[in-house]
Parts: sequence; C-alpha cells; structure tokens
Amino acid sequence: MQVVDGSQGEGGGQIFRSALTLAMCLQKPVQIKNIRAGRSKPGLLRQHLACLRAAQAISGARVLGDELGSTEVVFEPGLVNAGNYHFAIGSAGSTSLLFQTILLPLLLANGVSELCLEGGTHNGLAPSFDFIEQTLLPVLARMGYRVEVVLEKFGFYPAGGGQWRARIFPAENVCSLELCDRGRLMKVFAVVTLSQLPRHIGDRELQQIKRRCHWPDDNLHYRSVESVGPGNMVSLRVSAECITEVFEVVGEKQLRAERVAGRAVNALERYLKAGVPVGEYLADQLLLPMVLGNGGRFVTLEPSQHLLTNVSVISQLTGTSIEVRKIDSDVWMVEI
Ligand code: ATP
Repeated sequence: MQVVDGSQGEGGGQIFRSALTLAMCLQKPVQIKNIRAGRSKPGLLRQHLACLRAAQAISGARVLGDELGSTEVVFEPGLVNAGNYHFAIGSAGSTSLLFQTILLPLLLANGVSELCLEGGTHNGLAPSFDFIEQTLLPVLARMGYRVEVVLEKFGFYPAGGGQWRARIFPAENVCSLELCDRGRLMKVFAVVTLSQLPRHIGDRELQQIKRRCHWPDDNLHYRSVESVGPGNMVSLRVSAECITEVFEVVGEKQLRAERVAGRAVNALERYLKAGVPVGEYLADQLLLPMVLGNGGRFVTLEPSQHLLTNVSVISQLTGTSIEVRKIDSDVWMVEI
C-alpha cells in the first residue's frame, strides 16, 4: 500500500484530500500518516472528517482512523458510484474543499451525480462558492469536465448554515489544458458581501478599493445577503478573454475593513503586474484535473507551498512527472 506523509511541505489538509481523491480515481488503497502535522492543531478536524466520510460514501471504502483528531488513516476504496448524495460538514467548514475531494472521482464515474452540500460556502483559507463557480469550473469546462452549480444559502464562519447543489456529468473526451496567456482584459470589478453586519463596513471596503484601484462606481458592487450568522467578504474579479480570476478576503473581527479590502487589492495587483492567467490558488487546484485528465500546461505566479506540496504528493501517487519552472520574475510555467 502507498504511504503518504502528511507532514511534508505545507503539512496541511490538502495532502490528505489529494491522497483520498487519487486513491478513488486510481482504485488503489492509501495510508496517510502524520495528517496535518504542520498545523497548530494537527489531525483531522470536522471538515477533514467530512471529506473522508464523503469519499467513503461514494466509493464504499474500508476506512481505519475515522475520528476527530486522527493523525493516521487507511483508505481502501471500492468502485465509485455516481448518484445522489447529501453531505453536511456539521460546522462552518468549507463545503468547497469537500466538493473538490469527490469531484474528480464522480466526474470519472459513469453516471450523473447530484450533490447537496451544507456548511461554509464563503470561508477564508479555502475557495469560496464564487471562486468555484467563476474561476475553477469554467477552466474545467475547457478541459471537458461538465459541472453545474447553484448556491441556495450563504454560510460564513463561524455559524455556517450554507447550502449549494452540484450536478456532475461523466467526463467525455477530456482534452489537455493550454493556459499560457490570459488574453485581453475585459472587465474588473468588486463585489463586497455582507450578512448581519453594519453597512458602513461594506462602504469602507468599497471606498478603499476605489482609492487604490481608481475604478468607477459602476464597477463597485455591494451585496447584502441572508445567512444564519454574520459574514463579510471582499471579492475582486478580473475577467479576461481566457480566464476569470477571483481574489477574495474574508472579514475578521479584529481586522479593519480597510485592511480586508487592502489585502484583496494587493493580491489583485500582484496578479495584474505579473500578466499571468492562473492565480496562486487556482494553480494548486488545477493539478488533479490535469493529471487525471490529459495533462497540459499553464503559466502562473511564483509557486506557493500548496502548489509545490501538491506536486510532490500527486507525483508520488501517480508517477506522473510535473515540471515547475521559472520563466521570469513571478512568472512560472507548470507542465504535465
Ligand atoms: P488546514 O490543514 O490548513 O486546516 P485545509 O484543510 O483548510 O488546511 P489547505 O491544505 O490549507 O487546507 O488547502 C486549502 C486549499 O484552499 C488550497 O487548495 C488553496 O489553494 C485553497 N485556497 C485557500 N485560500 C483561497 C482563496 N482565497 N481563494 C481560492 N482558493 C483558496
């Protein structure tokens, strides 16, 4: 059985999730040790456990180590079954990360799947529903992976309560990805989302974006949403001919509104300056669909620890060679 060391590189939850996804797609058992050893609270948190149980449900896997705090898991998948599934994280943990864990196995299964996911939909340190819908899925669609999603309820940390659905169609004629240019810039705009928080927070975030980016008021949008708890997210979107990238920062209690917006602007400015198509987060999320599809290449920013760690986990489990090389300052090529 392949053994994956969860303490390597970034030492976070992604190593665990990538190992589960690959085990199901390759139909090979895997043992993951030292899970999240790089984090202050190592082992499985509720959201990681929810990923494990979702993976078990779709593949009928035999599992050892299925408990909170577990630092070692053995996962022996059976055949993946397309079907209708309902997964609740049981906390405000990210539903997008659970979705990504089971997405490729269901895309490669032979039948349509319907998912209903409950938990956090707009979390910090994870892709939001908007990022999945507007950035990730359109790129996957170019590769031949068809997925439709609809948001029903927003869920923010710590209250959660979000809900969305996905319809996943079996992959046909998956092609290799070529994403080396972003093409002409078509639109840049901001969306500030607020639930159960004073309006001035959103106004100050939009003012800060206006001050830094000099965008006209038509490009600055305020979105008041209903959710079971308070929440705030600043989202900056760049639509170019070949890709839409979304830069998001979640508001936190001790963080001034101006700083929340400022962080999003910093990430956007870095991306625009580098002139690359693929942003920091999308880069590590494209590896599995490419390796399990038909390979390809893309140009991105200087690799994050998440990207490099995912490269080494995926290379180890699949034997695929993934080349990451520098082209220029903050411009890198990833080729599979
Ligand atoms: P941890 O072990 O830190 O609790 P985790 O299970 O939340 O980890 P990580 O290993 O940190 O997961 O992986 C987080 C994933 O979320 C990565 O794929 C990363 O690219 C993605 N991500 C983080 N922040 C964003 C963001 N702002 N926009 C889009 N994707 C993001």
